[in-house]
Amino acid sequence: MTNFFDKIKKGARGAGKKAQETVEINRIKMQIKTKQKEISRLFMYMGDALYQHMSKGEKGSLPGACVDLKQELDRKITEKEALEERIRELKHLAKCASCGQINVRGVNFCAECGHPMGTKLEVQDTKIWPMLEPPNYEDDPLMQEELFEQQMQHMERSEQCPHCGHPVFPGKRFCHQCGRAR
Ligand SMILES: [Zn+2]
Ligand SMILES: [Zn+2]
Repeated sequence: MTNFFDKIKKGARGAGKKAQETVEINRIKMQIKTKQKEISRLFMYMGDALYQHMSKGEKGSLPGACVDLKQELDRKITEKEALEERIRELKHLAKCASCGQINVRGVNFCAECGHPMGTKLEVQDTKIWPMLEPPNYEDDPLMQEELFEQQMQHMERSEQCPHCGHPVFPGKRFCHQCGRAR
């Protein structure tokens, strides 16, 4: 009998699209690396400017160079965060703005702290991505699939929220659907 979960498992294996996403993710990872190098260099310049400044005995104020470098750093860090967010998007994950926990994209509330997530689900059936512990893989697509399947099995045994009745992932403190503590 093909049930709901079998369908998702098949969907998760949609090979072509997954391969494309992996290529895209690797491309973005390279961009992040470059960005991180630029950031490290700016931090070095900043330390250097501060050191020179203090060596001249001027301890009270910040050197002008540091102020400029701070602006440049803010810009680079924002760019890097946008790239990281793009990867999460491709992996259907979202980061909680409050506690930093990674959640499945599209859930209403963080399953860790109950904070509203404010992300939209691209997949049509919102019940498809309800309560998965996000996969903890980095570069290995096979590992990714395996973990995903394990999680799907968890899902079949999942508990229900005592408040709204939505299936929830075992062990999480908050219902990702209604946001209430379980
Ligand atoms: Zn959270
Ligand atoms: Zn609930």
